[in-house]
Amino acid sequence: GAKCRISRDDVFLGRILGEGFFGEVHDGTGERIRVAVKTCKDCSADVKDKFLSEADLMKNLNHPHIVHLIGVIETDPVWIVMELYEHGELGNYLVEQQYNLSTAMLTLYCLQICKALAYLEGLNMVHRDIAVRNVLVASPECVKLGDFGLSRYIDEQEYYKASLSRLPIKWMAPESINFRRFTTASDVWMFGVCVWEVFSTAQQPFFWLENGQVINQLESGVRLPKPQSCPPILYSLLTRCWAYEPHGRPNFSQLVCSLRYSAAPSTHPLED
Ligand code: ATP
Repeated sequence: GAKCRISRDDVFLGRILGEGFFGEVHDGTGERIRVAVKTCKDCSADVKDKFLSEADLMKNLNHPHIVHLIGVIETDPVWIVMELYEHGELGNYLVEQQYNLSTAMLTLYCLQICKALAYLEGLNMVHRDIAVRNVLVASPECVKLGDFGLSRYIDEQEYYKASLSRLPIKWMAPESINFRRFTTASDVWMFGVCVWEVFSTAQQPFFWLENGQVINQLESGVRLPKPQSCPPILYSLLTRCWAYEPHGRPNFSQLVCSLRYSAAPSTHPLED
């Protein structure tokens, strides 16, 4: 939409934050606020459409725990301008801060990610790539779900049939691995794996297996083990997210309620 178009004159590029799929991501300064700018290296018309499709989806999203899109500069060189989250990826943050993060704080991050996903569930949107590498840390008490590069809108009863081969097998539900079937229920499975990462200092799920071995293990009933610091009540919730049948899994609004409960709100204020 036009309200998302911004002027390049208002944005000053700073240092490189990281390498994205399409090109470098810089920090920078916008009108009064710090921003992150995604650039596109070889932006032919074709690539440009794919690059901008993530921004197109994000334009319609407005949630306290989803990465906020500020705007797009559509003329060459094409830029996607987002709010900057200085603490970077949750995966790295969990490693750096491993001795400072309480169980209550880790549970809070999971609840925030879950709220973001409940919001997407309400919009019939599947994310398809829920993992700590795709969550950014805005402040020590606030995380934001990002990377909508694989997200799609789906009609009710429908699902998105993936064509990409860049798929995160170790995070995926059995029906996604077997039939490339992605639904809100497969997002719930992935969310469970993401919670496992949060309580495992961002270790890779199933790091002891090859990608090709994962589906056999899942089909013989093997699941990720309880991380040492994960409360048993929370782990039992994860095992429900990992029900083999998609219909056997809770949905995100139910998970928000369960997480609020297991987060012991009497000892830590968990509301936004
Ligand atoms: P891929 O699809 O390979 O993950 P991508 O194109 O989605 O790449 P990102 O992973 O979103 O790109 O961004 C690349 C790097 O830039 C990451 O290290 C990420 O931490 C950083 N980054 C992206 N957006 C922001 C932001 N809003 N604030 C701070 N850092 C960011």
